[in-house]
Amino acid sequence: MSQDSDPIVRVFVFVDALGWKQVEKYGFLTDLLPYRRSIEMQFGYSCTAIPTILTGTRPSEHGHLAFYDYAPTKSPFQAMRFLAPFLRPRGFWRRGRVRNILSKWIKRLYGFTGYFQLYGIPLERLPKLDYCEKRDLFVKGGLAPVKNLADVWEAQRMRYHISDWHLPENENFRVASNLFRRGAVDRAFVYSAAFDALQHDNVGRDEVLKRKVEEYAESIRDLHRALSEGERPFELTVFSDHGMTPLRGTIDAPATIAKTGLKWGEDYASAIDSTMARFWWLTPESETTIRKAFDNFPGHWLTDDEMKRHGIWREDHKFGDAIFLADAGIQFCPSDMGVKPLNGMHGFDPDDEDSLACWLSTVPVPENVSRVCDYFHVMTE
Ligand SMILES: [Zn+2]
Repeated sequence: MSQDSDPIVRVFVFVDALGWKQVEKYGFLTDLLPYRRSIEMQFGYSCTAIPTILTGTRPSEHGHLAFYDYAPTKSPFQAMRFLAPFLRPRGFWRRGRVRNILSKWIKRLYGFTGYFQLYGIPLERLPKLDYCEKRDLFVKGGLAPVKNLADVWEAQRMRYHISDWHLPENENFRVASNLFRRGAVDRAFVYSAAFDALQHDNVGRDEVLKRKVEEYAESIRDLHRALSEGERPFELTVFSDHGMTPLRGTIDAPATIAKTGLKWGEDYASAIDSTMARFWWLTPESETTIRKAFDNFPGHWLTDDEMKRHGIWREDHKFGDAIFLADAGIQFCPSDMGVKPLNGMHGFDPDDEDSLACWLSTVPVPENVSRVCDYFHVMTE
């Protein structure tokens, strides 16, 4: 068994949105994890970072940047165009609770095994949109044709454990602890995501965040104790995908676009995320008009070079013909994600210092780990 060839147990704990700034501010586990580095986040959101962490590739390769892309011929929701006229009474269909129920219903109907949420997507547009997370990303083949962590650890014949993302994080910590105590795994990826939601609501509120960070510290100390009891040499690393940027202002894109008189699905198509507006030009005039309408917004249109640098450039323009990125702290509101701005958001320029992620470890940080896309190679080497 692999135990003969590699006796060291390697454990990686993912804490969503545990930014470098928070780690520094609260002196998070400086004694237990003395080897520390700030990490450049992968441009995008958690739905971009997770596939990047699980494959070591970037969106240009794994194809996940934001949940929804304009893809009229590929949309799994094409049949819903017959329902669209009945979904018009916006007030009712925009209610959060109704959307949650509808999301669950669509997820079951389509057999999606990944995370699925309608957010604020106008339902009549759904038949022309594709959704990126139809499959469970964490299981074997979850990001095929790109190989993911489960594929590689399986091929390496490791005894491995990857948390079930459906479970509450305390349960994930508990399950992992039990396995470590028995020395039962060679590799583990422990998943926790509650800090992200907490930060979205409470960024900057020390009294709330500090308490949660201390809870994580305790859970990770417990993992460390369990590993020690497992009586095998081990390495324990905690990493994250991004930090959190406080709200500094909003952009009302739908109102601005409405004033141009252009029609969605005829002149242009769009997907408005919290920090970026992505466009597909269906007529040449729409590009000129919308670019001009966005002139005074705090942000900029990404150049091809920037897209390449961020790993989101695609020959097929899957992610849009053009992307307008808001300045750090500015949120699109309303957007296809919701009608209210959040106290904190991520998904701005990776150079923004609030965006920085972290890598904290019991062993020295490998030289070549500086970006989120570098984690995978360490986890699988
Ligand atoms: Zn988030």
